Amino acid sequence: MSVTILDIIKNVSLAGWGMQVAGLFVALFWAVIFWQDVEKRSNKLFFIFSVVVFVWGVAAVFWEVAAETLFANTLVGIFYFVGGLIAPTLLFAIDSYSDKDGVYSSRGFVPILGPYIVLSLAFFVPGLIVGYERAIDDIPGKIVFGKLFIAYALYALVLVVLNLVHLIKKYKESAGIFKIQMRNFILLFGATSLIALFWTLLIPAISGNQDHFWIGYVFGALLFLVFTGITVIKYEFWSPKVIATELFISLIITVLFAEIFITSSFLDLLIKTGITLVVIFSSSFLVESVKREIKSKDKIIRLSHDIEIISKRLKVLDKKKSDFLSIASHHLRDPLTAIKGYASMILDGSFGDLSRPVREAVEKIFDSSERLITMISDFMDISRIESGDMNYNFADVDMREMVLELASEMKPSAAHAHLPIDVVVDDEGAAGVPFVTVGDAGKLRQVISNLIDNSIKYTPHGNISMRLSMSPDKKKIIFSQSDTGIGMSALTKEKIFRKFSRADGVSKVYTEGTGLGLYVAKEIIKKHEGRIWAESKGEGQGSTFYVELEAKR
Ligand code: ADP
Repeated sequence: MSVTILDIIKNVSLAGWGMQVAGLFVALFWAVIFWQDVEKRSNKLFFIFSVVVFVWGVAAVFWEVAAETLFANTLVGIFYFVGGLIAPTLLFAIDSYSDKDGVYSSRGFVPILGPYIVLSLAFFVPGLIVGYERAIDDIPGKIVFGKLFIAYALYALVLVVLNLVHLIKKYKESAGIFKIQMRNFILLFGATSLIALFWTLLIPAISGNQDHFWIGYVFGALLFLVFTGITVIKYEFWSPKVIATELFISLIITVLFAEIFITSSFLDLLIKTGITLVVIFSSSFLVESVKREIKSKDKIIRLSHDIEIISKRLKVLDKKKSDFLSIASHHLRDPLTAIKGYASMILDGSFGDLSRPVREAVEKIFDSSERLITMISDFMDISRIESGDMNYNFADVDMREMVLELASEMKPSAAHAHLPIDVVVDDEGAAGVPFVTVGDAGKLRQVISNLIDNSIKYTPHGNISMRLSMSPDKKKIIFSQSDTGIGMSALTKEKIFRKFSRADGVSKVYTEGTGLGLYVAKEIIKKHEGRIWAESKGEGQGSTFYVELEAKR
């Protein structure tokens, strides 16, 4: 009996056609992906999977068409033989996508394909797994399931379960939107494949009933379509936008093309052909522009992803830097403190009288070690601030007492720089409203002494003054530190509170500055819920620094 195209169209069931179309679609899709990167392992494996699906669809059609021929037995065997490869090839493919060193693909070829190869030998004996009993008179032909069919069905079931287990593992490891996509995919995959298996393998294997094969086919077809559809969207191989645009354009062109064939005159034919050509030509631009837009969107997404990774790396590096700074600073500070201590003892005369040149040299050692200790303390503060390890011990602090004390402590260095110090404490303190705030005494002291120290450093001549006052509503304590020094521009005023920030050219006045003191001061005052800021009429016109703190009620 010869088979014509018409026979094929007539004899194949709707479900068979569905499977055929689905198989073709899947194969075409993966062929395109494979073509884009032939070397990629996952592309190869998905392509193999799609070829298996396609061949399976073709085998199904041939078998449906030629069921009542002499080849029926062989064709049904081929159909089941190829069908048995769907689950393992899909497993390898999914595995290669989700893992670099796929669990199954690297070690699992033998355990996973082994049973299949053994089973497939049985296909050479018709009827051992499946066979076909042709129609006799009124009795319709049917597939007969052999002794080993149950083993074959179990093999497919185990592999589907393995696929599911693997996917669930991936689902647990994933996060965000990918996790939701994964969950939906697992549900779809699980439901369709188990239903397909149930109706095409288990029910026939157990009861021999094959009336419901079509359910398996339909779900099988659905599974492949859904699987491919999800992959398209998830991996953005083809954007839905491009697909929609292309579909729309194809529709218009098809209609225009059809119009050409129903022309009444030559002029009509010319016009319609012209319009069709113009549409074809311009639509290619449209598709290109959509593709370009998507490409640039992809680029932006990729870039933002890269930035995210880089910023994470930078954070790690920053943390390492802070840790290093903290450790290095600790090790530097201890010997320096010893140097400063001994220098101070030598200057005090603990080791006998000093000649002038020796005294001057030791004074330099003392000053330098003091400066280094301050610098190291600043570095340590920075690393503590950045790692969030700065500890504060809040208690009542008398600011009046602190300012007076610091003023007298700093007097010698101010005098050394020929700068008279003037301290004014407004009457409120004396009139019974104490200048008490709640804060960390040590840290507030550090802030005030840094401001006084800066005034001395940045005032080549003139004088410096401090003032402690209350806001009119008596809720705030305001400390101000003024000098007649180098002053600053409005721009400098803003930036000096940033880390490592110094005024331009300031190193001519004072070389050793690090630009950290005010940053640390700002962080400390911030923790006290206070404010710190600077005022200046401009360069060369002196500056005033303010610290505002909450007065204790
Ligand atoms: P450093 O003094 O070590 O550079 P600071 O953070 O204490 O670090 O100060 C940052 C910058 O602010 C200084 O380098 C200087 O440019 C400016 N500055 C601070 N105090 C004064 C002041 N009293 N007069 C003028 N400029 C100042």
